[in-house]
Amino acid sequence: MTTSNTLVYSIEAAKRILNLKSGVSKVVEWAWVVLVVGKNFSKFMSKKLFKKHFVDHKKEQAKTIEIVQDSRSQFTAKSGTKVYQLEATQTAIRCTCEDYRIQLGTIGQAVCKHGYGVLNTLGFDSLSSYIADRKHSPQAQVSRASSMPQVSIPNSRSSSEPRKKGRSVD
Ligand SMILES: [Zn+2]
Repeated sequence: MTTSNTLVYSIEAAKRILNLKSGVSKVVEWAWVVLVVGKNFSKFMSKKLFKKHFVDHKKEQAKTIEIVQDSRSQFTAKSGTKVYQLEATQTAIRCTCEDYRIQLGTIGQAVCKHGYGVLNTLGFDSLSSYIADRKHSPQAQVSRASSMPQVSIPNSRSSSEPRKKGRSVD
């Protein structure tokens, strides 16, 4: 099962950081550090390093992704044979990919490699700088009150309300 810990403090991440092809058998998150255990070694590494790597790695992967801007706030990402749809909102770069969904569910916020690709296209290198820019240019609101259909309203899933029932809307 995926948690925020296994997402960031992963064996794969440790191998990439240490520049090892194999030989890392365990990564354990401690209160302030991460213990990395390999065949012939065990060492402590900083959490900061793993967190930075988590972001850097996605930014690196983003460079190989083709981003097509479909409209002001809608994007298509092509990664090999896979295609994902993204939407730039005031506070997020939403994506239809698995990584985005997992990050959102475990960490609570998410930027996938496709999201970094979109951020690059828009001229930003991080979500925080993008959000800061959106805040300071309210006239450039991206998707609110535009003609876009509201894609996700996570809290409005009350099935007990028979709204609009019996009325056909043409
Ligand atoms: Zn994605």
